[in-house]
Amino acid sequence: MIESPLLEKLTGYIGGRWTDNAHGNTFDVYNPATGKVIAQAASMTEDEVKAAVAAGKSALRLTTPYSIETRRKWLEDIRDALKANKEEVGRILCMEHGKPLQEAQGEVDYAAGFFDYCSKHIQALDAHTIPEKPKDCTWTVHYRPIGVAGLITPWNFPIGMIAKKLSAALAAGCPSVIKPASETPLTMIALFSLMDKHTDMPDGMVNLVMGKASVIGKVLCESPDVPMLSFTGSTEVGRKLILDTAEQVKKLALELGGNAPFIVFDDADLDAAADNLIANKFRGGGQTCVCANRIFVHEKVADVFGQKLAERVNRMTVGDGINGDVDLGPLINQAGFDKVKRHLEDALEKGAGLVAGKKPEDLGDNLFFPPTVITDVDRDMCCYREETFGPLVPMALFRTEEEVIDAGNDTEFGLASYVFTGDAARAQRVAAGLRFGHCGWNTGTGPTPEAPFGGMKASGIGREGGLEGLFEFVEAQTVPRGF
Ligand code: ADP
Repeated sequence: MIESPLLEKLTGYIGGRWTDNAHGNTFDVYNPATGKVIAQAASMTEDEVKAAVAAGKSALRLTTPYSIETRRKWLEDIRDALKANKEEVGRILCMEHGKPLQEAQGEVDYAAGFFDYCSKHIQALDAHTIPEKPKDCTWTVHYRPIGVAGLITPWNFPIGMIAKKLSAALAAGCPSVIKPASETPLTMIALFSLMDKHTDMPDGMVNLVMGKASVIGKVLCESPDVPMLSFTGSTEVGRKLILDTAEQVKKLALELGGNAPFIVFDDADLDAAADNLIANKFRGGGQTCVCANRIFVHEKVADVFGQKLAERVNRMTVGDGINGDVDLGPLINQAGFDKVKRHLEDALEKGAGLVAGKKPEDLGDNLFFPPTVITDVDRDMCCYREETFGPLVPMALFRTEEEVIDAGNDTEFGLASYVFTGDAARAQRVAAGLRFGHCGWNTGTGPTPEAPFGGMKASGIGREGGLEGLFEFVEAQTVPRGF
């Protein structure tokens, strides 16, 4: 079992108190590298989730709002606590998620960056008076907290995803009810331990509920006291939340699935493109919504680019991330592993060629999937149409710019995309043509706290990060003064 000073309690946190399930119900948390249970966390009942919403409601202040200075201090304290505890939070994250230790600790820094950014830009949420005087009135625009927000996060960035949401919610003065993924609740508990010890937020400002998504989701969707949900996860669940909140017309911020195209033109710096693809694709074991899912390589450079990828992939080490220097950890669970295997099998059966990695029949019976490169992929294959969420690099060949823009857009998703070319005008055309919220030009980098990030099409609604993200949890209210 995992031991940590940040995991003294393994329960929810409601109204400023660690709160167990009234019946003692728990769920198991696994280390995917060993397959062993490392903790049992409390699973909340419907009544406990309702208590968390009520606690949030009691912390909401509308007529006497928390000042900008107060909110800034909360953000700074969380940022500082994360930075000071980066090693331990990262260790917990590594053990429940499986990503390499250094990468896990890097994610804690990334998370601290969102609190830092919001603390530095919170002034943008101050009221302002508009310069014109329409209708003989003086118009003031206020940014009111929307109210208690439900924050639902996935397992692939156990601290990064909550940081994006919570920093903006606190900046706005919104209390929250937070539900982590059941695969990775421990990192969230560690965050709550830090907030409990190192901030003086009022009771009920942040509440933690864990356990069954159906129970927690139902309360958050049905409660009139929760006017907003911010969710990161699958498009399937995102659609369900849209339907389940339609009656009350709740505000939704949704970051959903991706199917990122990574386009390499024949005038690209191929070594840089290969290095960036490796960094992009294998972060988190390929289990990120921004990682390249379809690699389009110009036919003139496909062979040489494939060789460059193979050289790099063959040097990568796979193993338990806690032991130090591995590039790739295990996949999160058996279902995740089976999906990647199915995509590989399907592609090879339909005519793709294996450039690096193992054949499906040679894979082991643990969750470690070797980095794999395949070529001659086409749109009939599962790996082209679905998000693989694993270390499989499928290359498809193309000839013209027009053709590859169409191919890139040939998906319901629109989150991240990448283009590698030495031609600036072409890069501008391709970025403008790709219906994706993010388009890296000669970089495989993903989101950052300073810039707005989010999806077009079925990849979501709203933005996280940047000033756009800072405004997600407020409602603009106009107060025109007549005399
Ligand atoms: P993933 O494929 O990353 O597990 P999910 O969409 O299944 O994505 O889960 C993302 C988060 O949403 C998790 O915290 C999960 O428990 C939660 N979740 C799943 N189903 C629901 C639901 N019906 N209502 C609310 N939250 C849900």
